[in-house]
Amino acid sequence: MDCLFCSIVNGEIPSEKVYEDDKILAFKDINPQAPVHILVIPKIHIQSADFITDNNSSYIAYIFEKIPEIAKICGLKNGYRIVSNCGPDACQSVLHIHFHILGGTQLPDKMA
Ligand code: 5GP
Ligand code: ZN
Repeated sequence: MDCLFCSIVNGEIPSEKVYEDDKILAFKDINPQAPVHILVIPKIHIQSADFITDNNSSYIAYIFEKIPEIAKICGLKNGYRIVSNCGPDACQSVLHIHFHILGGTQLPDKMA
């Protein structure tokens, strides 16, 4: 399967990792939209929120368990935003579910 983020997981494409364990990987976004912009992904391929099932939802729960630790590693002390784009209307550009962690500044009040 040709998936950019699976290629990052298996090391074919390099990334600036900030956290990794057996289930998830967090790395710096190549085109940051905030002073801190991290992507958190499961190491298994899940296309988007539309593809979360009983069989894979433990990875998503685990990501949310780990996000506070990842935010701390990245120096986020005053809050952060978690975003996951799902499908064309949300401009999802990489079809491997990912959670953007944005912070390091006062973010805009409006989200869309
Ligand atoms: P989406 O638009 O699907 O929600 O987010 C995809 C994100 O992946 C974008 O913010 C984009 O900058 C980031 N991205 C795309 N290609 C790469 C890459 O090769 N390396 C890294 N680190 N980030 C990438
Ligand atoms: Zn993938």
